[in-house]
Amino acid sequence: MSAAQRGHRVELFEAGETIGGQFTIAARIPGKEEFNETIRYYTRQLEINNVTVHLGERVTAEAILDGRASAATGDAAKFTDVVIATGVVPRIPDIPGIEHPMVMSYADAVLGHREIGKRVAVIGAGGIGFDVTEFLTVDESPTLNLKEWEQEWGVSEDLSIPGFITKPRPLPPVREVFMVQRKPGRQGKTLGKTTGWVHRATVKMKGVEQISGAVYDLIDDSGLHLTLHDKEGNETGKRVLGVDNIVVCAGQESVRDLVDPLTVAGLTTHIIGGADLASELDAKRAIRQGTEVAAALP
Ligand SMILES: Cc1cc2nc3c(=O)[nH]c(=O)nc-3n(C[C@H](O)[C@H](O)[C@H](O)COP(=O)(O)OP(=O)(O)OC[C@H]3O[C@@H](n4cnc5c(N)ncnc54)[C@H](O)[C@@H]3O)c2cc1C
Repeated sequence: MSAAQRGHRVELFEAGETIGGQFTIAARIPGKEEFNETIRYYTRQLEINNVTVHLGERVTAEAILDGRASAATGDAAKFTDVVIATGVVPRIPDIPGIEHPMVMSYADAVLGHREIGKRVAVIGAGGIGFDVTEFLTVDESPTLNLKEWEQEWGVSEDLSIPGFITKPRPLPPVREVFMVQRKPGRQGKTLGKTTGWVHRATVKMKGVEQISGAVYDLIDDSGLHLTLHDKEGNETGKRVLGVDNIVVCAGQESVRDLVDPLTVAGLTTHIIGGADLASELDAKRAIRQGTEVAAALP
């Protein structure tokens, strides 16, 4: 969008049926519904700025290099610059039994691609692990229902109540969820300073059991087999979580398959967002990088 605003001819290729990538997953998390507005904004801006958008098209390096991609729109000119914003895919950890049908990625869980049972283990307690856990404990986002939200957080509209604060009465969770992480110690320490406490309070109020210092031994029909450790790393015992499903939130990996062939062929490439750095949940960084690349184009 920024490059088009500066007068460049831009074509956008997206393998999915809509723009947004991981942000469309994020927008389904309770409290993150406003992300849909960001996607709506960019959809409209691409239109206003005459960007040619190819949805449902996983573009290849060959197509970009020989100009076939641009020729598809009747413009035989080859591309001069390629911004690689191919993002991330969920990382699947190497656990014996990880291919068991009860296991699914966070993307499949949140996008509703799979049925999810009533007892669920979430592997990984980073930002996505917390988000997915919150998603799994509700049927409907309380953020979209003011009365329910007020009840959940103990907020009153009664002017006679000091501070408008009452006793929180959260709805019971719709699933029993276990959040498991390898690292010992308290979960959620690395979440954002201003929002981390909300996530930690939410999983607590939904009765989520948080298990840290776990080694994942095996996944089989009886569930997730763990060896537990204390804060000092000493083994404290074994446990099997008898769950219906396991949702993997164990990080992400950059998708960079276009980088080498395009760079070797001498095209100017710019890598941004998750394709550049997979470890952070940071759409703002991705958008800033894209804007900076566009601003620097000759
Ligand atoms: C549950 C969840 C919660 C999140 N919460 C937040 C948050 O609160 N705040 C925040 O800042 N960020 C959050 N994020 C992260 C945010 O969504 C990402 O930082 C952002 O989406 C990264 O954007 P990206 O464009 O780099 O990559 P992606 O979102 O991964 O998008 C890459 C896109 O490229 C497409 N693609 C890949 N290869 C090709 C190809 N060859 N041809 C065509 N298309 C291709 C993919 O289909 C995909 O749509 C969250 C993410 C998740 C999953």
